[in-house]
Amino acid sequence: MAAHIRTIIAESTLQKRIAEMALEIDEYYLQQNWYQKTQEPVVVIGVLTGAVLFMADLVKKLSIRVELDFIRVSTYPGPTTIGKTPKIITPPTSKLYDSHVLLVDDILDSGKTLQIIQDSLVWPSPESMQTAVLLRKQGKAPSNVTADFVGFDIPDDFVVGYGLDYDGKYRTMPYVAVWSDDEFATSQSNFGWG
Ligand code: 5GP
Ligand code: MG
Repeated sequence: MAAHIRTIIAESTLQKRIAEMALEIDEYYLQQNWYQKTQEPVVVIGVLTGAVLFMADLVKKLSIRVELDFIRVSTYPGPTTIGKTPKIITPPTSKLYDSHVLLVDDILDSGKTLQIIQDSLVWPSPESMQTAVLLRKQGKAPSNVTADFVGFDIPDDFVVGYGLDYDGKYRTMPYVAVWSDDEFATSQSNFGWG
C-alpha cells in the first residue's frame, strides 16, 4: 500500500488568496454600523486543530480589531466521514453573549462541524456570527449550512496539508495536496469514483 500526495494549491497561491480574504473580511466589518460606532473587537474563533495555520495567516492580514479564541471539535480519524458525527470537546472561553463572532475552519465538507458549532453557540447567543473557511467541497453541505467567506472550491477528494491531517500527519505542510493510497483509490472506484 503506497500513499500518494499531489499538490493542488501551492503555498504562494494560498497566501495570495488569504490576503484577498482578509480584505473581504475587513471590508465587511468596516461596513457594519456597530463596528463603525464602537470598533468592538471581532471574536475570531478557530476550530482546532485544522484551522490554526489558516487562522494565524488570516488574522495577521486583518486590519479590523480582533480577539482570538478556539473551539475543539472531534476530528475524523481517516479519509472516510461516513456515519461519523463531530462533537464539541472544548467550548470557547470568551463570553460570546452580545459579541460578534467570526468562526474560522479549514474546510467545509459535509457541513456537520459548522452545523454543530452554530447550534451550540445559540445560547448564550452572539450578536452576529460569520464564518470563513479556506476550502469548500462544493455541493456537499445542506443548503442551510453555508460559509460567508470561502478561499477555494475544491473537488471531493481527501486533502491534507496547511492544517489538514491524515492521522496526525501532513498538517504542517505549507500547501494543500490530495492524499490517496492504492487501497483507498480501489475502494472508492468500487463506488464509481474511478
Ligand atoms: P464536515 O463536518 O464539514 O464534513 O468537515 C469538516 C471537518 O472535517 C474539517 O474541519 C476537517 O477537520 C475534516 N475534513 C473534512 N474533509 C477533509 C479532508 O478532505 N481532509 C482532511 N484532512 N480533513 C477533512
Ligand atoms: Mg476540522
